[in-house]
Amino acid sequence: MGAELTEKTSLNDLSTIWKNCLGRIKKNVTQMTYNTWFLPIRPLQLEDNTLKVELPSQFFWEWIDEHYNSLINKTISEVIGPDAKLSYIIDSNSDEDSEPPSNYNETNEIIVKEKLKVKHSFESYLNPRYTFQNFITGEGNQLARAAAGAISDNPGGTSFNPFFVYGGVGLGKTHLIQAIGNEIVNKFPDRKVIYLSTDIFTVEFVESIQSNRVNEFSNFYRGMDVLIIDDIQFLIGKEKTQDLFFHIFNTLHQSRKQIILSSDKPPKNLKGLDERLISRFQWGLTADIQPPELETRIAILRKKAEVYGMSVSGEILEYIASNITSNIRELEGCLIKILANASLSSKEITFELVKKTVNEIATDRKKNNINIDSITKVVCDHFNIAENKIRDKTRKKEIVQARQLAMYLSKEMTNASLKTIGLHFGGRDHSTVIHACTSIENSKENDKSVREMIEDLKNQIELNTA
Ligand code: ADP
Ligand code: MG
Repeated sequence: MGAELTEKTSLNDLSTIWKNCLGRIKKNVTQMTYNTWFLPIRPLQLEDNTLKVELPSQFFWEWIDEHYNSLINKTISEVIGPDAKLSYIIDSNSDEDSEPPSNYNETNEIIVKEKLKVKHSFESYLNPRYTFQNFITGEGNQLARAAAGAISDNPGGTSFNPFFVYGGVGLGKTHLIQAIGNEIVNKFPDRKVIYLSTDIFTVEFVESIQSNRVNEFSNFYRGMDVLIIDDIQFLIGKEKTQDLFFHIFNTLHQSRKQIILSSDKPPKNLKGLDERLISRFQWGLTADIQPPELETRIAILRKKAEVYGMSVSGEILEYIASNITSNIRELEGCLIKILANASLSSKEITFELVKKTVNEIATDRKKNNINIDSITKVVCDHFNIAENKIRDKTRKKEIVQARQLAMYLSKEMTNASLKTIGLHFGGRDHSTVIHACTSIENSKENDKSVREMIEDLKNQIELNTA
C-alpha cells in the first residue's frame, strides 16, 4: 500500500509513482491498449491524494473512463493509497475542442506541465539488453548481421524488406532483430518501432475480436514505421491471424515501412502457411543464422564473461566452447551456472568446477531429448510387443515386465514426474510407478542378466536420441 500523501509531491516522486502505476497497468492490458491509451497520459501533480493527469483529448478521457475506469482506480489506490482520486485536464495543444472538463478549475497551477511534456510517447517493447555492440559476428551470422546494420541505417529504404531471419533455437535471432529495433529507436527517436512475438500478436488479435475492436487493432499495426515479429512460424494453423497479418503486411510494405521477421525455418519450408505470405516473405532478404564455429563461440563467451564481471582464463573458455557446441543460449547458461556455483561455495573458478558444470549441462540436454515415448519404443522393440499393448490392463507376465521396465527407465532417464509417467502407461497412479521402480531395483540387485538388460536398453535409448 502506498503512503498517504498530503503534501505536494516533488516532480521526481511523481514520475516514480506514475511509473509504478504504468507498470501495474501494463500487466493488465495488451501492448496495443497500453501504447494507445495509457502511455500518452501525463502525470502533472499529486496533492491530497489526488493525482492530476493530462490527457490528449476529451474523447480520450471518455474512452478511458468507459473502458478502464476500474483498472485505473484499482491501480492508483494500490500505489497511492485507498483514498486516491484522479482528476484530469485536456492538453491545451490538442487539435480538438479543448474546453476544460467541468471538474477542472486550477488552470494556473499547472506549471510543471511543459517540463513533463515528452514529444513522443510510444513503447516499443524492446529489451535494451539486445544490442549490436554485444552481438558477436562470425561466419554463421555474417550476412544477417550486415543486413541488420544496413536496415537500421535506413529503415524501410533498403531492398531488404521484409528482412526474414531464420535459424535454430538459441542462435541469436531474437537478439539480432531486437538489436535492429533498438538501433533504429536510437537513431530515429520519432519512428514507431514495435517488437512482439507471434504468440502475443495472435492473442491480441483474438482479444480484439472478442471486444469488437479488430479495426483498432489492425490500424495500430498499420501505423508502425518498423514492425518486428518474432517466431513467425507460430502463425501456422492460425488462418484468421494470417489473413489479418497479410493485410497489415501489404499496407506497411506499400508505404515502405520496414518489416522484420524471424522463424525457425526458411519461408519455403513453412508448410501450412498461406502461400501468399510465403511468397511475400521472400520479397526482401532472407538470411540464415548457422551455429557458430569454435572461434566465435570463444569470442561470445569472452564477451559474456566480461559482461558478468567474471575473470575466466582463456583455457577455460576454450574448454567450454569445445564442449558446448550446439547453441549460444546453452553457452551462456553454462557460464551463469559456473558463476553461481563459484559464488555459492565462494570458490574460485577452477577447471574442476568447469568440468563438472559442463557435464551437468550435457546430462540435462540428454534428459531433455529423451522422453517417455522414445523409452517406450525401445522397450517394446526389445520385448517384441506392440506399443499400445504396454498400456493395456493385462497381467500377462511379459507385458507387466516391459511396462515396469519402461516406467523405471522413464523415472531414471527423464525429468518426468511419477504422475506423468503413470498417465503415459494407461492412466495408472503414481503408487504403481513407485511399485514398478522398487520391483525393478530388486531384480537388478539379485539378477545379473537384468542388470545387463537395463544397460543395453539405456544404451539403445541414448543412441536413438543422440
Ligand atoms: P533465438 O531467438 O535464435 O532462439 P536468442 O536471440 O534468444 O536466440 O539468443 C540466445 C542467447 O544467446 C541470448 O542471450 C543472446 O543474447 C545470445 N546470443 C545469441 N547470438 C549471439 C551473438 N552472436 N553474440 C552474443 N550473444 C549472442
Ligand atoms: Mg527467439
